Amino acid sequence: MNSPPTSPVQRRASAGRDQGNNPDAQYLHICDFPDCGIAFDRREVSKHIFNYHLHGVDQWDTIICPLDQTKMRARNLARHYETKHLRARVSCPYCPREYSRRDTLVRHLRESCPSRLQG
Ligand SMILES: [Zn+2]
Ligand SMILES: [Zn+2]
Ligand SMILES: [Zn+2]
Repeated sequence: MNSPPTSPVQRRASAGRDQGNNPDAQYLHICDFPDCGIAFDRREVSKHIFNYHLHGVDQWDTIICPLDQTKMRARNLARHYETKHLRARVSCPYCPREYSRRDTLVRHLRESCPSRLQG
Protein backbone atom coordinates (compact mmCIF):
# COMPACT_ATOMS: atom_id res chain seq x y z
CA MET A 1 0.00 0.00 0.00
CA ASN A 2 1.04 3.49 -0.66
CA SER A 3 -0.14 5.37 2.39
CA PRO A 4 -0.58 9.11 1.96
CA PRO A 5 1.49 11.55 4.00
CA THR A 6 -0.06 12.90 7.14
CA SER A 7 0.02 16.59 6.30
CA PRO A 8 -3.01 17.65 4.29
CA VAL A 9 -2.38 18.98 0.84
CA GLN A 10 -3.32 22.60 0.65
CA ARG A 11 -4.94 23.95 -2.42
CA ARG A 12 -3.43 27.11 -3.78
CA ALA A 13 -5.28 29.55 -1.56
CA SER A 14 -2.82 32.32 -1.00
CA ALA A 15 -2.13 33.53 -4.51
CA GLY A 16 -2.71 37.23 -4.68
CA ARG A 17 -3.57 39.76 -2.05
CA ASP A 18 -6.93 41.01 -0.84
CA GLN A 19 -8.59 37.85 -1.90
CA GLY A 20 -10.83 37.91 1.14
CA ASN A 21 -12.62 40.85 -0.42
CA ASN A 22 -12.65 39.52 -3.90
CA PRO A 23 -15.24 36.83 -4.60
CA ASP A 24 -13.56 36.11 -7.92
CA ALA A 25 -10.18 35.34 -6.41
CA GLN A 26 -10.95 31.67 -6.19
CA TYR A 27 -11.05 31.61 -9.98
CA LEU A 28 -7.67 33.19 -10.46
CA HIS A 29 -5.15 31.00 -12.17
CA ILE A 30 -1.52 31.73 -12.94
CA CYS A 31 -0.72 30.85 -16.51
CA ASP A 32 1.70 27.94 -16.75
CA PHE A 33 3.13 28.86 -20.10
CA PRO A 34 6.82 29.77 -20.12
CA ASP A 35 7.49 33.49 -19.82
CA CYS A 36 3.85 34.25 -19.12
CA GLY A 37 2.89 33.96 -15.46
CA ILE A 38 -0.12 36.20 -15.93
CA ALA A 39 -3.02 35.65 -13.58
CA PHE A 40 -6.33 35.28 -15.29
CA ASP A 41 -9.85 34.25 -14.46
CA ARG A 42 -10.02 30.54 -15.08
CA ARG A 43 -13.49 30.98 -16.49
CA GLU A 44 -11.90 33.07 -19.21
CA VAL A 45 -9.05 30.80 -20.09
CA SER A 46 -9.78 30.88 -23.80
CA LYS A 47 -9.74 34.67 -23.76
CA HIS A 48 -6.31 34.65 -22.17
CA ILE A 49 -4.97 31.99 -24.49
CA PHE A 50 -6.20 33.76 -27.58
CA ASN A 51 -5.10 37.21 -26.48
CA TYR A 52 -1.68 36.30 -25.16
CA HIS A 53 -0.58 33.11 -26.83
CA LEU A 54 -2.34 32.99 -30.15
CA HIS A 55 -2.12 36.62 -31.09
CA GLY A 56 -1.85 36.78 -34.85
CA VAL A 57 -1.90 33.00 -35.18
CA ASP A 58 -4.33 31.45 -37.62
CA GLN A 59 -6.74 29.16 -35.82
CA TRP A 60 -5.96 26.35 -38.27
CA ASP A 61 -2.22 26.60 -37.82
CA THR A 62 -0.56 23.63 -36.18
CA ILE A 63 1.04 24.63 -32.94
CA ILE A 64 2.84 22.78 -30.19
CA CYS A 65 1.87 23.17 -26.57
CA PRO A 66 4.99 24.40 -24.74
CA LEU A 67 4.04 22.48 -21.63
CA ASP A 68 3.76 18.97 -22.98
CA GLN A 69 4.75 19.24 -26.64
CA THR A 70 1.31 18.15 -27.82
CA LYS A 71 0.64 19.05 -31.43
CA MET A 72 -2.72 20.57 -32.25
CA ARG A 73 -4.59 23.21 -34.16
CA ALA A 74 -4.28 26.64 -32.62
CA ARG A 75 -8.03 26.75 -32.12
CA ASN A 76 -7.83 23.76 -29.79
CA LEU A 77 -5.16 25.17 -27.52
CA ALA A 78 -7.52 26.89 -25.10
CA ARG A 79 -9.55 23.76 -24.50
CA HIS A 80 -6.40 21.67 -24.33
CA TYR A 81 -4.93 24.01 -21.75
CA GLU A 82 -8.11 24.00 -19.75
CA THR A 83 -8.43 20.24 -19.56
CA LYS A 84 -4.79 19.21 -19.43
CA HIS A 85 -3.09 22.00 -17.57
CA LEU A 86 -5.68 23.96 -15.67
CA ARG A 87 -7.86 21.29 -14.14
CA ALA A 88 -5.61 18.30 -13.98
CA ARG A 89 -3.05 19.56 -11.54
CA VAL A 90 -0.91 17.47 -9.26
CA SER A 91 -0.06 18.64 -5.78
CA CYS A 92 3.13 18.03 -3.89
CA PRO A 93 2.25 15.86 -0.90
CA TYR A 94 4.89 17.58 1.23
CA CYS A 95 4.34 21.27 0.52
CA PRO A 96 1.59 23.46 -0.97
CA ARG A 97 2.99 23.54 -4.48
CA GLU A 98 1.01 22.44 -7.48
CA TYR A 99 2.20 21.47 -10.90
CA SER A 100 0.49 20.86 -14.16
CA ARG A 101 2.80 18.02 -15.08
CA ARG A 102 3.64 14.97 -13.09
CA ASP A 103 7.23 14.88 -14.21
CA THR A 104 7.69 18.44 -13.00
CA LEU A 105 6.38 17.38 -9.62
CA VAL A 106 8.73 14.42 -9.59
CA ARG A 107 11.65 16.70 -10.28
CA HIS A 108 10.44 19.08 -7.58
CA LEU A 109 10.31 16.22 -5.11
CA ARG A 110 13.80 15.13 -6.03
CA GLU A 111 15.47 18.50 -6.21
CA SER A 112 13.64 21.37 -4.64
CA CYS A 113 10.86 20.42 -2.29
CA PRO A 114 11.66 22.29 0.96
CA SER A 115 10.17 19.71 3.26
CA ARG A 116 12.05 16.87 1.65
CA LEU A 117 15.35 18.72 1.79
CA GLN A 118 14.94 19.34 5.49
CA GLY A 119 14.21 15.74 6.27
ZN1 LIG B 1 -0.41 32.86 -20.48
ZN1 LIG C 1 -0.29 20.94 -23.21
ZN1 LIG D 1 7.03 20.04 -2.31
